[in-house]
Amino acid sequence: MFDRGRRNLLSRRRTPALPRMPWIVDEDTFVDNCTRCNKCLSACETEIIVKGDGGFPTVDFNRGECTFCTLCAQACPESLFRPTTESAWDVKAQVNQQCLAQNNVECRSCGDMCEVQAIRFKLQAGGVAQPAFELDICNGCGACVATCPTSAITMVTSQQEEK
Ligand code: SF4
Ligand code: SF4
Ligand code: SF4
Repeated sequence: MFDRGRRNLLSRRRTPALPRMPWIVDEDTFVDNCTRCNKCLSACETEIIVKGDGGFPTVDFNRGECTFCTLCAQACPESLFRPTTESAWDVKAQVNQQCLAQNNVECRSCGDMCEVQAIRFKLQAGGVAQPAFELDICNGCGACVATCPTSAITMVTSQQEEK
């Protein structure tokens, strides 16, 4: 039996910037009902689910990408995932000034990793080609994150992107 006082304490933790996993219900429902059984961790085919704050599962794109295999949702014995026929999440890639190309050093590593070709490199007169992230195409898989040699790519929600 999970201690209610402890659960309430944990539920007051800072809401993570990103959804913890694809297809999860809202954060409050998740923290209230996840038993931290770790079945999603064991099921994840790319092993990107780790124990986050309070021991609750969360994806870590520094470990790799989400393939949207749905195994985490299938493994969960609770009602914490939306139907996997729905959109997985509203997560997009964002590049910052640590990008080598932005500092005039040739690099296309992220573009090579992006299966859906959401990263286009635009040639610049007198400089190296610059990555442009097409957010309408990006599905938030995170494959570009770990491949970036300068950790210039972070994942954000569309709302965060607009700020
Ligand atoms: S959908 Fe698959 S790859 Fe993505 S977090 Fe879930 S188990 Fe891991
Ligand atoms: S992999 Fe990183 S450094 Fe290289 S172009 Fe992409 S964002 Fe820039
Ligand atoms: S998160 Fe995935 S789909 Fe989006 S730009 Fe990176 S590799 Fe491409």
